[in-house]
Amino acid sequence: MTLKKGKLYIVATPIGNLDDLTYRAVQVLKSADLVAAEDTRHTRGLLARYGIQARLVSVHEHNEHRVRNRLVRILNEGESVALVSDAGTPLISDPGFGLVNAASDNGIEVIPVPGPSAVICALSISGLATDRFGFYGFLPRNRSSRQTFLGTLLGEHGTLVFYESCHRIVEALEDFAGIFPAGRKLVIAREMTKRHETIVRTVVGEALERVLEDPNMRKGEFVLLVEGEGGKRRPDQLSTEHVEILELLLEECSVKKSSEVVSRITGVRRKLVYSAALEISRRKS
Ligand code: SAM
Repeated sequence: MTLKKGKLYIVATPIGNLDDLTYRAVQVLKSADLVAAEDTRHTRGLLARYGIQARLVSVHEHNEHRVRNRLVRILNEGESVALVSDAGTPLISDPGFGLVNAASDNGIEVIPVPGPSAVICALSISGLATDRFGFYGFLPRNRSSRQTFLGTLLGEHGTLVFYESCHRIVEALEDFAGIFPAGRKLVIAREMTKRHETIVRTVVGEALERVLEDPNMRKGEFVLLVEGEGGKRRPDQLSTEHVEILELLLEECSVKKSSEVVSRITGVRRKLVYSAALEISRRKS
Protein backbone atom coordinates (compact mmCIF):
# COMPACT_ATOMS: atom_id res chain seq x y z
CA MET A 1 0.00 0.00 0.00
CA THR A 2 1.35 3.42 -0.88
CA LEU A 3 0.29 6.17 1.49
CA LYS A 4 -0.42 9.71 0.40
CA LYS A 5 2.58 11.91 1.11
CA GLY A 6 2.50 14.41 3.95
CA LYS A 7 -0.73 13.10 5.51
CA LEU A 8 -1.51 12.38 9.14
CA TYR A 9 -3.34 9.07 9.68
CA ILE A 10 -5.27 8.57 12.94
CA VAL A 11 -5.21 4.82 13.43
CA ALA A 12 -7.42 2.90 15.88
CA THR A 13 -5.83 -0.15 17.54
CA PRO A 14 -7.36 -2.98 19.64
CA ILE A 15 -8.77 -2.38 23.14
CA GLY A 16 -7.74 -5.86 24.26
CA ASN A 17 -7.92 -8.60 21.66
CA LEU A 18 -4.99 -8.04 19.30
CA ASP A 19 -6.90 -9.66 16.44
CA ASP A 20 -9.09 -6.56 16.35
CA LEU A 21 -6.58 -4.51 14.34
CA THR A 22 -8.23 -3.81 10.98
CA TYR A 23 -6.68 -4.90 7.68
CA ARG A 24 -6.39 -1.27 6.62
CA ALA A 25 -4.72 -0.30 9.90
CA VAL A 26 -2.08 -2.99 9.30
CA GLN A 27 -1.42 -1.63 5.80
CA VAL A 28 -1.17 1.96 7.03
CA LEU A 29 1.15 1.08 9.93
CA LYS A 30 3.35 -0.94 7.58
CA SER A 31 3.61 1.88 5.07
CA ALA A 32 3.80 5.03 7.23
CA ASP A 33 7.18 6.78 7.31
CA LEU A 34 6.73 7.35 11.03
CA VAL A 35 4.43 5.93 13.71
CA ALA A 36 3.71 8.34 16.56
CA ALA A 37 2.76 6.26 19.61
CA GLU A 38 1.66 7.05 23.15
CA ASP A 39 3.95 4.35 24.59
CA THR A 40 6.44 3.07 22.04
CA ARG A 41 7.16 -0.13 24.00
CA HIS A 42 3.48 -1.02 24.08
CA THR A 43 3.00 -0.27 20.38
CA ARG A 44 6.12 -2.26 19.46
CA GLY A 45 4.37 -5.32 20.95
CA LEU A 46 1.34 -4.82 18.71
CA LEU A 47 3.47 -4.16 15.63
CA ALA A 48 5.59 -7.27 16.32
CA ARG A 49 2.42 -9.37 16.36
CA TYR A 50 1.78 -8.27 12.74
CA GLY A 51 5.43 -8.40 11.66
CA ILE A 52 5.52 -4.62 11.20
CA GLN A 53 8.80 -2.78 11.49
CA ALA A 54 8.23 0.91 11.93
CA ARG A 55 10.11 4.03 12.89
CA LEU A 56 8.50 5.05 16.17
CA VAL A 57 8.32 8.33 18.00
CA SER A 58 6.71 8.82 21.38
CA VAL A 59 3.81 11.28 21.76
CA HIS A 60 2.12 11.40 25.14
CA GLU A 61 0.23 13.99 27.15
CA HIS A 62 3.43 15.42 28.68
CA ASN A 63 5.42 15.96 25.46
CA GLU A 64 2.62 16.41 22.88
CA HIS A 65 3.09 20.17 22.76
CA ARG A 66 6.80 19.87 22.00
CA VAL A 67 6.62 16.91 19.61
CA ARG A 68 3.73 18.19 17.52
CA ASN A 69 5.82 21.00 16.00
CA ARG A 70 8.41 18.45 14.94
CA LEU A 71 5.74 16.20 13.47
CA VAL A 72 4.14 19.07 11.57
CA ARG A 73 7.56 19.89 10.10
CA ILE A 74 8.07 16.24 9.07
CA LEU A 75 4.58 16.15 7.54
CA ASN A 76 5.26 19.38 5.66
CA GLU A 77 8.39 17.76 4.24
CA GLY A 78 6.14 15.11 2.70
CA GLU A 79 6.48 12.20 5.10
CA SER A 80 3.39 10.26 6.18
CA VAL A 81 2.73 9.89 9.91
CA ALA A 82 0.40 7.39 11.64
CA LEU A 83 -0.78 8.29 15.13
CA VAL A 84 -1.78 5.47 17.51
CA SER A 85 -2.57 5.38 21.21
CA ASP A 86 -2.10 2.49 23.64
CA ALA A 87 -5.61 1.21 22.97
CA GLY A 88 -8.61 2.09 20.87
CA THR A 89 -9.08 5.29 18.96
CA PRO A 90 -6.54 8.10 19.49
CA LEU A 91 -8.00 11.33 20.95
CA ILE A 92 -10.86 9.46 22.63
CA SER A 93 -9.69 10.11 26.23
CA ASP A 94 -6.21 9.81 24.72
CA PRO A 95 -3.52 12.17 23.38
CA GLY A 96 -3.54 13.62 19.86
CA PHE A 97 -5.89 16.61 20.07
CA GLY A 98 -3.09 19.18 19.77
CA LEU A 99 -1.42 17.32 16.92
CA VAL A 100 -4.62 16.98 14.88
CA ASN A 101 -5.35 20.69 15.32
CA ALA A 102 -1.78 21.73 14.53
CA ALA A 103 -1.88 19.57 11.40
CA SER A 104 -5.20 20.94 10.14
CA ASP A 105 -4.13 24.52 10.98
CA ASN A 106 -1.12 23.91 8.73
CA GLY A 107 -3.24 22.62 5.86
CA ILE A 108 -2.20 19.00 6.42
CA GLU A 109 -4.89 16.44 5.62
CA VAL A 110 -5.91 14.27 8.59
CA ILE A 111 -7.19 10.83 7.58
CA PRO A 112 -9.18 8.52 9.89
CA VAL A 113 -8.45 4.80 10.00
CA PRO A 114 -11.37 3.70 12.20
CA GLY A 115 -11.56 0.69 14.46
CA PRO A 116 -12.22 -0.19 18.09
CA SER A 117 -13.17 2.27 20.80
CA ALA A 118 -14.38 1.18 24.23
CA VAL A 119 -17.26 3.68 24.22
CA ILE A 120 -18.84 2.32 21.02
CA CYS A 121 -17.99 -1.29 21.89
CA ALA A 122 -19.81 -0.92 25.24
CA LEU A 123 -22.82 0.85 23.73
CA SER A 124 -23.18 -1.86 21.11
CA ILE A 125 -23.75 -4.58 23.71
CA SER A 126 -25.40 -2.53 26.47
CA GLY A 127 -28.99 -2.86 25.32
CA LEU A 128 -29.43 0.80 26.34
CA ALA A 129 -30.58 3.47 23.93
CA THR A 130 -27.98 4.23 21.27
CA ASP A 131 -29.98 6.70 19.18
CA ARG A 132 -28.91 9.36 21.64
CA PHE A 133 -25.98 9.13 24.04
CA GLY A 134 -23.46 11.33 25.80
CA PHE A 135 -19.84 10.32 26.34
CA TYR A 136 -18.23 11.97 29.35
CA GLY A 137 -14.85 10.19 29.48
CA PHE A 138 -13.30 9.98 32.95
CA LEU A 139 -15.24 11.58 35.80
CA PRO A 140 -13.55 14.27 37.94
CA ARG A 141 -11.33 12.67 40.62
CA ASN A 142 -12.46 14.97 43.36
CA ARG A 143 -15.64 13.63 44.98
CA SER A 144 -17.53 16.89 45.31
CA SER A 145 -16.67 17.94 41.70
CA ARG A 146 -17.77 14.48 40.57
CA GLN A 147 -21.09 14.71 42.37
CA THR A 148 -21.73 18.23 41.07
CA PHE A 149 -20.94 17.07 37.54
CA LEU A 150 -23.19 14.01 37.80
CA GLY A 151 -25.99 16.25 39.09
CA THR A 152 -25.86 18.22 35.83
CA LEU A 153 -26.53 14.97 33.91
CA LEU A 154 -29.60 13.89 35.86
CA GLY A 155 -32.09 15.18 33.29
CA GLU A 156 -30.22 13.99 30.18
CA HIS A 157 -32.37 11.78 27.96
CA GLY A 158 -29.61 9.92 26.16
CA THR A 159 -27.57 7.05 27.60
CA LEU A 160 -24.69 8.34 29.75
CA VAL A 161 -21.31 6.71 29.08
CA PHE A 162 -18.24 7.00 31.32
CA TYR A 163 -14.74 5.54 31.42
CA GLU A 164 -13.56 4.36 34.82
CA SER A 165 -10.48 2.73 36.29
CA CYS A 166 -10.41 -0.06 38.86
CA HIS A 167 -9.15 2.46 41.46
CA ARG A 168 -12.31 4.55 41.41
CA ILE A 169 -15.06 2.14 40.34
CA VAL A 170 -16.48 1.84 43.88
CA GLU A 171 -16.54 5.60 44.46
CA ALA A 172 -18.15 6.20 41.07
CA LEU A 173 -20.93 3.70 41.75
CA GLU A 174 -21.49 5.15 45.23
CA ASP A 175 -21.95 8.57 43.65
CA PHE A 176 -24.26 7.20 40.93
CA ALA A 177 -26.43 5.73 43.71
CA GLY A 178 -26.56 9.11 45.43
CA ILE A 179 -27.54 11.02 42.29
CA PHE A 180 -29.52 8.85 39.86
CA PRO A 181 -32.87 7.11 40.62
CA ALA A 182 -32.32 3.58 41.98
CA GLY A 183 -34.33 1.94 39.20
CA ARG A 184 -32.36 3.33 36.27
CA LYS A 185 -30.62 0.63 34.26
CA LEU A 186 -26.84 0.52 34.61
CA VAL A 187 -24.40 -1.59 32.61
CA ILE A 188 -20.84 -2.35 33.67
CA ALA A 189 -18.69 -3.38 30.70
CA ARG A 190 -15.44 -4.74 32.07
CA GLU A 191 -12.34 -5.92 30.18
CA MET A 192 -14.14 -6.04 26.83
CA THR A 193 -12.57 -8.29 24.19
CA LYS A 194 -10.18 -9.68 26.81
CA ARG A 195 -10.08 -13.03 28.60
CA HIS A 196 -12.03 -11.79 31.64
CA GLU A 197 -14.63 -9.84 29.72
CA THR A 198 -17.66 -9.35 32.01
CA ILE A 199 -20.87 -7.50 31.23
CA VAL A 200 -23.11 -6.80 34.22
CA ARG A 201 -26.62 -5.55 33.50
CA THR A 202 -28.12 -4.13 36.65
CA VAL A 203 -29.77 -1.00 38.03
CA VAL A 204 -28.26 2.02 39.81
CA GLY A 205 -29.52 0.85 43.21
CA GLU A 206 -27.86 -2.56 42.94
CA ALA A 207 -24.64 -1.88 41.01
CA LEU A 208 -22.42 -1.14 44.00
CA GLU A 209 -23.40 -4.39 45.69
CA ARG A 210 -22.57 -6.34 42.49
CA VAL A 211 -19.07 -4.86 42.51
CA LEU A 212 -18.49 -5.27 46.25
CA GLU A 213 -19.55 -8.93 46.30
CA ASP A 214 -16.99 -9.96 43.65
CA PRO A 215 -13.34 -8.83 44.01
CA ASN A 216 -12.79 -9.47 40.28
CA MET A 217 -15.28 -6.71 39.58
CA ARG A 218 -12.77 -4.27 41.01
CA LYS A 219 -10.02 -5.28 38.57
CA GLY A 220 -9.32 -4.21 35.01
CA GLU A 221 -10.81 -1.53 32.79
CA PHE A 222 -14.41 -0.39 32.82
CA VAL A 223 -17.01 1.44 30.82
CA LEU A 224 -20.07 2.44 32.86
CA LEU A 225 -23.36 3.16 31.11
CA VAL A 226 -26.40 4.66 32.81
CA GLU A 227 -29.83 4.78 31.23
CA GLY A 228 -30.89 8.34 30.43
CA GLU A 229 -33.96 9.98 31.88
CA GLY A 230 -37.01 8.38 30.29
CA GLY A 231 -35.02 5.29 29.27
CA LYS A 232 -35.38 3.84 25.80
CA ARG A 233 -36.81 6.10 23.17
CA ARG A 234 -40.50 5.35 22.71
CA PRO A 235 -41.63 4.61 19.19
CA ASP A 236 -43.74 7.60 18.14
CA GLN A 237 -46.03 5.77 15.76
CA LEU A 238 -47.67 2.38 15.31
CA SER A 239 -46.11 0.00 12.78
CA THR A 240 -48.35 -1.94 10.35
CA GLU A 241 -47.99 -4.97 12.60
CA HIS A 242 -49.07 -2.95 15.65
CA VAL A 243 -52.15 -1.69 13.77
CA GLU A 244 -53.06 -5.30 12.89
CA ILE A 245 -52.85 -6.30 16.58
CA LEU A 246 -54.98 -3.30 17.49
CA GLU A 247 -57.59 -4.27 14.89
CA LEU A 248 -57.76 -7.82 16.25
CA LEU A 249 -58.13 -6.61 19.81
CA LEU A 250 -60.86 -4.16 18.82
CA GLU A 251 -62.93 -7.10 17.57
CA GLU A 252 -63.05 -8.42 21.17
CA CYS A 253 -62.44 -5.47 23.52
CA SER A 254 -63.32 -1.81 24.00
CA VAL A 255 -61.31 1.04 22.45
CA LYS A 256 -59.95 1.90 25.89
CA LYS A 257 -58.85 -1.66 26.76
CA SER A 258 -57.37 -2.34 23.29
CA SER A 259 -55.39 0.92 23.42
CA GLU A 260 -54.03 0.14 26.87
CA VAL A 261 -52.85 -3.32 25.80
CA VAL A 262 -51.24 -2.14 22.55
CA SER A 263 -49.56 0.79 24.30
CA ARG A 264 -48.11 -1.59 26.88
CA ILE A 265 -46.86 -4.03 24.21
CA THR A 266 -45.41 -1.44 21.83
CA GLY A 267 -44.33 1.43 24.09
CA VAL A 268 -46.25 3.88 21.89
CA ARG A 269 -48.01 6.53 24.00
CA ARG A 270 -51.53 5.55 25.07
CA LYS A 271 -53.05 8.77 23.73
CA LEU A 272 -51.66 8.07 20.29
CA VAL A 273 -52.87 4.45 20.28
CA TYR A 274 -56.28 5.59 21.54
CA SER A 275 -56.74 7.98 18.58
CA ALA A 276 -55.71 5.22 16.16
CA ALA A 277 -58.18 2.83 17.84
CA LEU A 278 -60.98 5.41 17.60
CA GLU A 279 -60.21 5.93 13.92
CA ILE A 280 -60.28 2.15 13.24
CA SER A 281 -63.58 1.61 15.04
CA ARG A 282 -65.10 4.64 13.28
CA ARG A 283 -64.07 3.18 9.89
CA LYS A 284 -65.55 -0.21 10.79
CA SER A 285 -68.91 1.09 12.04
N1 SAM B 1 -8.79 5.57 23.31
C1 SAM B 1 -9.48 4.53 24.04
C2 SAM B 1 -10.80 4.21 23.32
O1 SAM B 1 -10.95 4.56 22.15
O2 SAM B 1 -11.66 3.59 23.94
C3 SAM B 1 -9.68 4.91 25.49
C4 SAM B 1 -8.42 5.18 26.23
S1 SAM B 1 -8.67 5.64 27.92
C5 SAM B 1 -7.06 6.17 28.38
C6 SAM B 1 -8.72 4.07 28.72
C7 SAM B 1 -10.10 3.77 29.31
O3 SAM B 1 -10.96 3.24 28.31
C8 SAM B 1 -10.08 2.71 30.40
O4 SAM B 1 -9.76 3.25 31.67
C9 SAM B 1 -11.48 2.18 30.35
O5 SAM B 1 -12.36 3.04 31.04
C10 SAM B 1 -11.77 2.23 28.85
N2 SAM B 1 -11.38 0.96 28.22
C11 SAM B 1 -10.37 0.76 27.35
N3 SAM B 1 -10.32 -0.53 26.99
C12 SAM B 1 -11.32 -1.16 27.63
C13 SAM B 1 -11.79 -2.50 27.64
N4 SAM B 1 -11.18 -3.45 26.95
N5 SAM B 1 -12.86 -2.78 28.41
C14 SAM B 1 -13.47 -1.84 29.14
N6 SAM B 1 -13.07 -0.55 29.16
C15 SAM B 1 -12.02 -0.21 28.41
